Amino acid sequence: MAVGVLALQGSFKEHIVALKKLGVEAVEVRKPEQLNGLAGLIIPGGESTTMAKLAEEYKLIPALKEFANGGKPVWGTCAGLIFLADKAVGQKAGGQALLGGLDCTVHRNFFGSQLNSFEAELPAPAALTELGGSENFRAVFIRAPAIVEAGPDVDVLAAVELRSGEFGASSVKEKKVAQTEEKGTKVIVAVRQGNLLATAFHPELTSDSRWHSLFLKMIPKSGKADENQRVKEEAE
Ligand code: GLN
Repeated sequence: MAVGVLALQGSFKEHIVALKKLGVEAVEVRKPEQLNGLAGLIIPGGESTTMAKLAEEYKLIPALKEFANGGKPVWGTCAGLIFLADKAVGQKAGGQALLGGLDCTVHRNFFGSQLNSFEAELPAPAALTELGGSENFRAVFIRAPAIVEAGPDVDVLAAVELRSGEFGASSVKEKKVAQTEEKGTKVIVAVRQGNLLATAFHPELTSDSRWHSLFLKMIPKSGKADENQRVKEEAE
């Protein structure tokens, strides 16, 4: 089984290291045909407009869409999350190509600029604690986006609390917070929708491998097992 990492720009090398640590074959993807036969794909963090431009240049967009729409597990981290979203808002968000599929609206630089990058200890979702380890996980946010709207089929895995003033509460930001919070002042930073996983933070920059393990668990054991399951379900 091999897992691809989109290697146009950004933190793809760190994802490859993390996958290899878990004993998984990791493949750098730059061309459409390199997606053939892969069990899943990680779209790393970086700069989403640059990544989208390169993906267009390398004629990757239709193949990436087909891969994700075909039900193969795809995990977007940070810029990868933006790329997977159906809609992006915020600075310069209008013009960039998106793969879409994730029923979310993402604010590209929700937390501000590079200077507002931060780390936070967040409560781990059940999907993560099931894998053992701490009740919390360390989330590294670098010019991070946040999900400001999520559709009904989207499972929220993690949210981050905004303390007043912490992220420079401009009136625009206050408005965004007011739109996104249900209780308290939280914004969504990790979701799952079927075969799609998306995180606004960078697990590949920490030593906690549980997000990678969670993603690998989304990959069906083997094509054969899937087929067997389908036949079994049809017979029932
Ligand atoms: N906010 C960045 C963008 O718009 C993403 C930052 C990241 O991937 N670390 O692309």
